[in-house]
Formats: sequence, structure tokens, C-alpha cells
Amino acid sequence: MRDQREQWSVSKCAVRCSQCDKPFEDRETVTSILTFVDGNFERIDYGSCTKDLNNILESNAPHAVSIWKTTFYTPSVEEKSIPKENVESLLRERMRAERPEDRDIIFILAVMLERKRLLIERGVQLLADGFKIRVYEHRKTQESFTVTDPGLRLDELEQVQDEVTILLGGQLRSRPATETDVSGG
Ligand SMILES: [Zn+2]
Repeated sequence: MRDQREQWSVSKCAVRCSQCDKPFEDRETVTSILTFVDGNFERIDYGSCTKDLNNILESNAPHAVSIWKTTFYTPSVEEKSIPKENVESLLRERMRAERPEDRDIIFILAVMLERKRLLIERGVQLLADGFKIRVYEHRKTQESFTVTDPGLRLDELEQVQDEVTILLGGQLRSRPATETDVSGG
């Protein structure tokens, strides 16, 4: 029979001292104890303030799986910040702005939401200039979105997708260089 402890466990470092409840400072030395009590891993973190650390270590010893010293780093701003933009908010923002130059981006954003099944295509209308109007319905709010389909070629599509990825704060996937990239300098 497998040891019960053979389970995946991720435990983050606490942000405050288990002894005095004071928030850890950046680069403070922290003593961490991972215990296994009643079938659960529990992590307890003590800051540098703790004077009777030996007692604490002793009292935890029967359950301690691991005891180690670590350095606490205040979480960086990037880790804390919630992404401000998502596909839907960006789509709404760009549609509200009504800038003709956003046409391709708006279309790609709508397609992304369709793939996520947040938008449902409800109709297509062919325009005289060869473009199409696509009508989408928002699955949750039942709003309808009309979006111009500019009929992008594959290479244009990739370019716009890259723009959208950057707008959403993402990283571009590296693509193998094409011959035009090499000669284009
Ligand atoms: Zn403390």
C-alpha cells in the first residue's frame, strides 16, 4: 500500500509569522516546517523574531516531514497584479472606440471568444465590398455583437493574432523564420 504522503502537494510560504503574526519582510529568514497531521500536509512558517525556535521544532518533531530555512521574498508587483485586459474587455473597449484601424483586431478578438464559446455566431451578411458582417450573441448577457469580417489572408491573420497577443500581455510563440524574413533585413 502506498504511503498516504505520496500525494502531490503544493504549499506556498505564509506571508506572516506563525508565532507573532507579523508580516514577513522582504528577504527575511524564515524557518518552515512541513507537517503531516491527520492525512494532510500543513506548512508552518516562523519569522526571524522567533526566539524559542528550538521548542517549536521539538514540539513539531513528531509530525514534521521536513524542516528548512528559507528566505522570504515579498511577492513582486507582476505576481500580484491581476491581468487588466482579457479578450472580452478588450473587444468591448475596441468596439466602443469605433476606430476603423481596429477592424482586424476586433474581428480576431470576436473569433477568439467564439472559440471559447462565449460568443455564438448567429448570422452572416455579405457586404458589397466583399467583407462580411458576422453577428454574434453573447452566451451570458444575450447581447448581440456585429463585427466586420475583413476576410484576412493567412499571413495577415497571423500578424493580427500577434498584435492581439501583445495587447493581452502575452508572449509571442517563436515561428520558424521564413525566406522573406531572411532576405528582408
Ligand atoms: Zn514572528
